[in-house]
Parts: sequence; structure tokens; C-alpha cells
Amino acid sequence: MRNIQIHLLIIKTKHKFFNFFTSKKIKPKITTMRTKSFRHLSFLIVVSGFLLSCSSNNSASDPDSSMITNYDITPILSMFDGVAAVSYSVNGNTVTFTTTNLPNHTSPYWPTNNALYEAYNGTNSNFNLNPNQISTQNITFTITLNPSEATNKQATSLGPIGISRNGIVFFNQYAGPNNQPLTNEINSFDQWLGHPQNTGMYHYHVEPTYLTNQFGNNVFLGLLADGFPVYGPVENGITITNADLDEYHGHTGPTADFPNGIYHYHITPNEDPYINGNGFYGTPGNITQ
Ligand SMILES: [Zn+2]
Ligand SMILES: [Zn+2]
Repeated sequence: MRNIQIHLLIIKTKHKFFNFFTSKKIKPKITTMRTKSFRHLSFLIVVSGFLLSCSSNNSASDPDSSMITNYDITPILSMFDGVAAVSYSVNGNTVTFTTTNLPNHTSPYWPTNNALYEAYNGTNSNFNLNPNQISTQNITFTITLNPSEATNKQATSLGPIGISRNGIVFFNQYAGPNNQPLTNEINSFDQWLGHPQNTGMYHYHVEPTYLTNQFGNNVFLGLLADGFPVYGPVENGITITNADLDEYHGHTGPTADFPNGIYHYHITPNEDPYINGNGFYGTPGNITQ
């Protein structure tokens, strides 16, 4: 659909009739002109036919879907430029990130001879250093640049589920198989709320506070493997709670990087499930480690 270089925002009305919003100026920005009439009937017919031809890839016939749009996350790739741990390359409509997964910040989990070693100085009086040490990884994510809602949502796995903007992987809200809660793991989170597992893979299950300290608590913090962005806990000056989000821990709306709106996840600092809820909203790409 992207080949026609027209981005569509489709609102389904109660009368099961589509209004189309499309741009006169075409690429790459989205949608300015509204038509409620049959003035553009020929266009309507062409696009309707196209939608039918690819209906297996969208939910145009889903009565619960109020908005469908073609997303393009290319604008946020530059956030990863100059990040020491990360390199990325674009190939068609996918991007492949490769990360060493080495944090750009202090931690008591660095070997003590590393310049970034720092004894725990966080606020958790129950902090308990786990026996693992940070080590170099070679993790790749191949992710679509055009994420869309999956018809069948997939659960996240243990291990990497996304990549934060400093190259550290996101993990889900579980400590182990059978949805073990993070209750005990939380006490081994370092002063930036990350920790390594037994292969030395450092990761964030919760808000990466080094990033929110550095960039702000209302900004882009990374991507999940389905290509949808993760934002900090604040939006328009208000702290997001689970009640503002769907079961996948996201919602659709404008962000600073996507002013025309995009589905995005939010981090909730003190509320489980923290980053992702009941699986990926979109279809996850390939992750190797
Ligand atoms: Zn963990
Ligand atoms: Zn939001």
C-alpha cells in the first residue's frame, strides 16, 4: 500500500461508511484534506478496491477498529545515530538494529575495573546485588518501518522484546516462565533500574531512569520489536497510568515525533506491567542474540 505514496487515515462511521482523509501534497506527511461527499468518488473506488485487495493485512472490516493508518517510524531512526552500542541499517521497509547492549551509564554490575563501575547508590533499601556482570552482547532486531496492528496479538517472550534508545534491551514484566512476577528481581535493579541476567545481558523491565533523566520523561525511549515506539510516563504534563492505556499498554495519539498520531506504548513508573502489557500490539520482527 505504501507504494501508492498516499497515506490514508480512515475513520469508520456508525453507518459503515468510510470518510477518507488524504493529502494533496502526497508524501511523506499525512492527511490534510477531508471529503464527506462523493466529490472524489473515483478516488474512493480506486482506494476501496485496493483496501479490499489487501484486507488480510488490515482490519478495515473490524467493527471495533475506529482508526486505521499507515505508520512510518523512519523519523525516529536518527535517535539512534551516534549511540555507541547501536548500529542500524535500513533495507526496504525494515530496519535492522545491532547492539552490543553495553549501557552508557554507571552500574554496580560493571566489572570493578570498568570506568563506569559505581557502587549502588539508589534509593531501594532492600537492594541486593545479583551475581551477574555486564558483558558485551550481539543482539539484532529486524523491525518493520511500517508497523500496524496485528490481527492476532502475540505474547512477549522472556528475553529481549525491544531496544531502548541507548541500545539496552527491554524485557517484559516477568521474571521467569509461567509469568513469575518481578517482585524479587526488583531488588536487584541498580540505580538506573536495570540489571544483567546470567549471560551478562543488561536489561530494563521498567522505566530506564537514566534515559528519562537525560532526555525527559515525556519523550521517545525506544522501540518494541513490533516497530511501535515506547514513550516516557508523562504526556501533555500528565502522568500516564494503566487506566489511560489498552491491554497492550499503549494507545493511539499524536507524539512529538509523530504529530499526526501513532500507536505507542507508555511506561508507567510504579504500575505493573511497566512497559508492555498483554503482548505486542503489532507483529514482532526477528530478534537474534
Ligand atoms: Zn531481569
Ligand atoms: Zn501517549
